[in-house]
Amino acid sequence: MSALVFVEHDNTELKDATLAAVTAAQAFGDVDLLVAGSGCGAVAEAASKIAGVNKVLVADADAYAHPLAEELTAVVLANAEGYDAIIAPATTTGKNFLPRVAASLDVAQISDITEVVSTDTFKRPIYAGNAIATVQSADAVKVITVRGTAFDKAAAEGGSASVEDAKGADTVGVSSFVKSELSESDRPELTSAKIIISGGRGMGSGENFAIIDKVADKLGAAVGASRAAVDAGFVPNDYQVGQTGKIVAPELYIAVGISGAIQHLAGMKDSKVIVAINKDEEAPIFQVADYGLVADLFEAVPALEAAL
Ligand code: FAD
Repeated sequence: MSALVFVEHDNTELKDATLAAVTAAQAFGDVDLLVAGSGCGAVAEAASKIAGVNKVLVADADAYAHPLAEELTAVVLANAEGYDAIIAPATTTGKNFLPRVAASLDVAQISDITEVVSTDTFKRPIYAGNAIATVQSADAVKVITVRGTAFDKAAAEGGSASVEDAKGADTVGVSSFVKSELSESDRPELTSAKIIISGGRGMGSGENFAIIDKVADKLGAAVGASRAAVDAGFVPNDYQVGQTGKIVAPELYIAVGISGAIQHLAGMKDSKVIVAINKDEEAPIFQVADYGLVADLFEAVPALEAAL
């Protein structure tokens, strides 16, 4: 049996979420990777070094400079034949194009898996992570997105896969890239950060996030937020952690002025150590916290920063 894993990248660097997808794919036997990009030679080289990878297929063309769902679908389908599983990380990109692949193959996508029970049976969270569904698929090809926080990352070094040209696909041309507006930050990316400090509605304003930023700078942490903080305009929406935001599982997650709604917990409850600072001792966040501090955040956070 064999699996084809879509490599997530920015034409320069391979994204960590790919490594977890490779681990999940290993249940299918041989693992090949598909790198679709433009000027993506460095990514192909990095992909070839991932431990346990058999072969790297590279589609290098202008059409793949940006991850347009229509173009990615075409190139994945052109290379899909013979594989028992087509796998992508459950990231914005994977969630965007893989359902098209599944529909084109006339199979049901199996989304956001957290465990491979066998090559036709998988576990995945439902109801914002409050229940785990065991899903069995009778489809000939399994089309799967993988929750990155649920699998160990495959070693990024140690492999020596061959690198080959992928089969080409005609340009679909029904969509085009206009622009991307990304928030610039020197801090680590939320989904790969080892430490995250997040603020909620309790922060009161965007300006008040400055006290969180100071702690983040000292800890080398990423800054996250609850949806309430994002909806109130305190911070951009790519800060959002939770069911409809990013799923994270850092070594340390510090929740400041966040009540702990299930939709927020769905995005961070797998963090190794959870610290909560909240003035309400009844706040549900304390039920999942390893360390809880009942205090006013405007006193506790500056004191934490001063102590670091
Ligand atoms: P609140 O619930 O208002 O909590 C604020 C907390 O701050 C309180 O506990 C309060 O005691 C504390 N506080 C206030 N002042 C201070 C102070 N001075 N010092 C210390 N503590 C203080 N939410 C997410 O976060 N992520 C999601 O992805 C998400 N997806 C959703 C999807 C759906 C379909 C729905 C319906 C909701 C979703 N939500 C999500 C929203 C979620 O239900 C909550 O509304 C939200 O998480 C609440 O954010 P909060 O904890 O910041 O605000």
